[in-house]
Amino acid sequence: MRMMAAILFEQGKPRPYATSRPLVIEEVELDGPGPGEMLIEVAAAGLCHSDLSTIENQRPRPLPIVIGHEGAGIVREVGPGVKDVVPGDHVVTVFAPSCGDCRYCVRGRPNICPTGNAFRATGQLPTGGRRLKRLDGTPVNHNSGLSLYAQYAVVARRSAVKIGKDIPLDDAAIFGCAVMTGAGAVLNTARMEAGAAIAVVGLGGVGMNALFAAVAGGAERIVAVDTNPAKLELAKQWGATDVFLAGNEDCAAQVREATDGGLDTVIETAGSIAAMQLAIAITARGGETISAGLPNINAQVSYLHASMVSEERSIRGSYMGSCVPERDLPRLLGLYRRGKLPVDKQPHHLRSDQRGVRPAERRHGAAADAAAERLTRSKVDRGARPIRCRTASGAAFSGMKGDQFSATIAVGVFQTTLNGPSAWISPIIAGLDKGWLRCMSSA
Ligand SMILES: [Zn+2]
Ligand SMILES: [Zn+2]
Repeated sequence: MRMMAAILFEQGKPRPYATSRPLVIEEVELDGPGPGEMLIEVAAAGLCHSDLSTIENQRPRPLPIVIGHEGAGIVREVGPGVKDVVPGDHVVTVFAPSCGDCRYCVRGRPNICPTGNAFRATGQLPTGGRRLKRLDGTPVNHNSGLSLYAQYAVVARRSAVKIGKDIPLDDAAIFGCAVMTGAGAVLNTARMEAGAAIAVVGLGGVGMNALFAAVAGGAERIVAVDTNPAKLELAKQWGATDVFLAGNEDCAAQVREATDGGLDTVIETAGSIAAMQLAIAITARGGETISAGLPNINAQVSYLHASMVSEERSIRGSYMGSCVPERDLPRLLGLYRRGKLPVDKQPHHLRSDQRGVRPAERRHGAAADAAAERLTRSKVDRGARPIRCRTASGAAFSGMKGDQFSATIAVGVFQTTLNGPSAWISPIIAGLDKGWLRCMSSA
């Protein structure tokens, strides 16, 4: 079948991305599902910081590639051998599907199953091969076995988890990455206990979901740290007991002072060396620093070896929130149903309101117009349900001033992303204006 997709042809293009346009919306061919696969109509796909990192070439990927690794959709067709899912079922995608057989999988740690690395590096599906190609026949690579910046995706059965039809798919989408990663870091990796004292460093989509989970899990003290004062305000509204502005030299000392020497558990979600060093510095003696933010592939962090030994400190990674998706997605969605993971309540969440986005599109007219024209001319299946995009990432907002942040909360995320580092998204805005995409934010 033919459909529209946003293709990344080159990593590391120069900024501003609104000009260099690393993503190109193009009509592509998608083969039907093979054995063990299914065709999903993408209902919503997130704009995660990892997508931006891919564009920035923080992690090399085979090109060309359709990115997008966090989403939800409706099963439209199943391949041979798929028995437990039928067309019409709703699913959340999993960007780190597992083999089920290796030593990690059998120990209940499918999130670190190494089979994912192989197909991620070669741009193939976990079931082997590619289902995407350009109209001239050139193969197009898959991102993490998914490729969700498209109207449809063919994915392996194990790349998705069936969910209840009562969950709005645009909310469900960010459970595929931001929620599993953030809430999972607190509930699974840290195994936070009620009454605990915990800090979250970095309040993007992952950090905010870590905060929600800390509140839901009954933390007694929740310290939130970010470089953006507006996010600290949000964090207070959502249950942080103490907030600290990062980016100044005194921050670590202030947190240590206020918490009698630091927190027992500190979750770092920004994926930067500065954030990680701050997280280590505000971890108490005997405490644990958990990093859930994906840094540049070559980034190295240093710490005092002696203090790690004599103060019994530990440093741990948390990938996809140490989740077993089949076990944890229903649990996390259950918390959402109870209002404990209120991804839909965030004030900058914008549902399908395209009006607020148009001024931004006009400001960056040329690139957006070109993409819009292609869309208009293309033979897209107009009857298809529009894709919904939302960002769960703080990337779009980093470095913004508080008033800017509030203003963009009011008018919608894509205005923000054009101002901020995520300006690569401008072709997508054109798609949005044409009704192909629907956008919302939970940055
Ligand atoms: Zn992600
Ligand atoms: Zn495995």
